[in-house]
This record gives sequence, C-alpha cells and structure tokens, in this order.
Amino acid sequence: MAMSDTLTEAFNDQIGLEFASSHAYLQLAAYFADRSLTGFESWMRAQADEERVHGMKFFDFVLDRGRQVELGPIDAPSSVPASALEAFEIALAHEEKVTASIQRLMALAEAESDAASYSILQWFLTEQIEEEATVGEILGRL
Ligand code: MG
Repeated sequence: MAMSDTLTEAFNDQIGLEFASSHAYLQLAAYFADRSLTGFESWMRAQADEERVHGMKFFDFVLDRGRQVELGPIDAPSSVPASALEAFEIALAHEEKVTASIQRLMALAEAESDAASYSILQWFLTEQIEEEATVGEILGRL
C-alpha cells in the first residue's frame, strides 16, 4: 500500500526533528566538554549518535515505502544551559516534544489505516518512553 502524501510529509518532518535532537544533544555535549564533565559529555554524545540513527531509520522507511525524502532545515538547539540540571531539563523537554510528535504521527497512521507506519511508530514510542525515563532518572539524581 502506498503511503499518503500527508504521512510522507509528516515523516519527512520527523526526520528533521530527529536530526534536530541530535543537534541539541551535541550542543549539550559541548557544554559539558567545556566544563570537563566528561561523563556527561560522553552521555550526550552517545545520545546525539542515537538520534542520528533514529533520523536514518525514518529516512530509510520513507525510501522503503517508495516515497521521496525531502530534507528541510535543522532547528538550532535551545540556548546554552546555565547548569547541569538545566541541561537535563532541556533534554527532557526535547524528548517530550519528540514523544508528542510520534503520537501525532501514530494518530495520523491510524486514521489512514496505514499499518506499516503504525508499526514502526510503535517502536519509536517505546524508545521515547525509555528516553524520558532515563533523562528523568538523571534529573532526579541531580
Ligand atoms: Mg529520537
């Protein structure tokens, strides 16, 4: 079944959001590098890599569905944090934004009875629950 134009556009937007997530985590990695907090820096770098993998997973999905990938601009990261606590608050806010976006995509896929899209989005939703829990746990410790 061909993927609709609406879903294709929404998936293309999601690719951009995943790359923006990678960008945001890289900015936070730089913040921690600058303060020689190497453990936090490594954690942020690993997240940045993982977000790029997410972006590519959507990228490949759009291509596999026989639709065109159209990359847009990548949003700049939010302002540089004032503390480690704020860095993780930024990370959590960003993850919540991504989760909301995945849920909007799922509603769209469900409305269009696009099972293949719904299926891949379920994987992403599970991933988001993990991400939010991990960031939330670190925030709790901080
Ligand atoms: Mg992601």
